[in-house]
Amino acid sequence: MKIGIPASRGYAIGQAFIKKHEELKITDEKVTDVAAEKESLRRAAEASKTQLEKIRKKAFESMGEEKAMVFDAHLMFFDDPEFMGGIEAEIDNNGSNAIKATNDVMKNYVAIFESMDDEYMRERAADIKDVSKRLMNNLAGIEDSILIQENNTIVVADDLTPSDTAQLDKEKVIAFLTNVGGRTSHSAIMARTLEIPAVVGLKDITEVVKNGDILIVDGIEGRVYIDPDHDTVTKFIALQEAHNKEKEELKKLIEVEAVTKSGKRIEVAGNIGKPEDVHKVLENGGDGIGLFRTEFLYMDREEMPTEEEQFESYKYVLEKMENKPVVIRTLDIGGDKQLPYLVMPNEMNPFLGYRAIRLCLDRTDIFKIQLRALLRASVYGNLKVMFPMVSSLDEFQKSKEIVEECTKELKAEGKEVSDSIEWGIMVEIPAAAVMADELAKHVDFFSIGTNDLIQYTLAADRMSEKVSYLYDPMHPAVLRLIKMTIDGAHSQGKWVGMCGEMAGDETAIPTLVEYGLDEFSMSASSMLRAKQVILEQK
Ligand code: PEP
Ligand code: MG
Repeated sequence: MKIGIPASRGYAIGQAFIKKHEELKITDEKVTDVAAEKESLRRAAEASKTQLEKIRKKAFESMGEEKAMVFDAHLMFFDDPEFMGGIEAEIDNNGSNAIKATNDVMKNYVAIFESMDDEYMRERAADIKDVSKRLMNNLAGIEDSILIQENNTIVVADDLTPSDTAQLDKEKVIAFLTNVGGRTSHSAIMARTLEIPAVVGLKDITEVVKNGDILIVDGIEGRVYIDPDHDTVTKFIALQEAHNKEKEELKKLIEVEAVTKSGKRIEVAGNIGKPEDVHKVLENGGDGIGLFRTEFLYMDREEMPTEEEQFESYKYVLEKMENKPVVIRTLDIGGDKQLPYLVMPNEMNPFLGYRAIRLCLDRTDIFKIQLRALLRASVYGNLKVMFPMVSSLDEFQKSKEIVEECTKELKAEGKEVSDSIEWGIMVEIPAAAVMADELAKHVDFFSIGTNDLIQYTLAADRMSEKVSYLYDPMHPAVLRLIKMTIDGAHSQGKWVGMCGEMAGDETAIPTLVEYGLDEFSMSASSMLRAKQVILEQK
């Protein structure tokens, strides 16, 4: 039996599928047989083309001609005499191995494109990286996708990125296990959204489990049983049944309002990553959406979503929620969330770096597209917008200036914008919590992002299983900051919610109710249990 960090509740029994984490190695090793190396290059280019043609076909069927054209551009590189010729010349002239030659040619191209003034041309650097990476992976024989064949599969991986998790075949994957990560890493959050059990931080699970092993996953206690005996299986089937029964029982609370014994009405809202997730929130009786992580609209694709695509997504959620509050967070990319087509700087500490609002205030071209889409969608429901990772008033005010600019533009174009949108910030940097009473004079609301607030307060990386023992939501320093934020908001008559995972933590809810938190937002699967706890509070 292996013990890790329970990341998503529930039990699963199934077959292991090991997702290998194969790192591409680029070495200086010279080749002796130049002709053979060029033949390998030719074969890898052919394989890359075949893969891209398949992806193009899939994109055409699901998203139409315009989206599919991106892959035409990628395909063209393989017939481009300068690109392919450049790689061959590196092999011919310097005896470089094909992977190193590709990497060198890619670096030259990327440097040229990134130094261009034109935004469009700068973005092309990402295309070249993509194409070159595919070619290098094929040269190294590395597979690039999670291909799940069997039903009842339990994915076992060193780590899963949010986009890996988004790609999992939900029909076949019933649980996942990872070596690294903590409760608030984004793959764990995704598991809760998908309502599949997960255990993370298992350290060496990829070493001790083999493909096809039968596994039992206990996502409540964080336990994994490998090739369990008959008695263990029987015990877990009983536990699974009890768990399902408990879930059934909780359904009685769907229509019940979360009111404390002393009569305070508390909002229980849902966190979503994709527009379709709204259905689970409604099915579980959510009072609203407390966090729409819009960066998921940007993932799992080859280019930025357009204003129109984003508008449709926001409108969909607002309409489905029928005037219930919908808090949409602007793009929070960086940290453990990356976009394949957005070139990001290499940083020592990406969670402390170029991320979220910092990136948006720098790349106003990207930010404005999202803001325009949000403003246009605002007339379809009860929209509240918040900015992530705000550390000072200045960032909020600069963001609001861009909002004003977009509003003016839209009105000049004859488009309607609601004048009752609320504008808030996430309080997830200790500086914002400390300054909450001041910030509250300017914003309409706060939402406390404890996933980040805890890691920054305790200097304990939310992704690291090694320091997960320090990552404690109930640490007095964290609790003080939460209380300061709530008091700060209330001193100015503003409401305050929490959308970090702590909001759905049954052991933390009583304290948060006592502090006066107005809204609790969490994955849909946690909402009914949270409601039950709130109903028991004074
Ligand atoms: C948080 O930091 O608590 C939060 C909700 O944002 P994210 O988990 O997306 O960083
Ligand atoms: Mg955060």
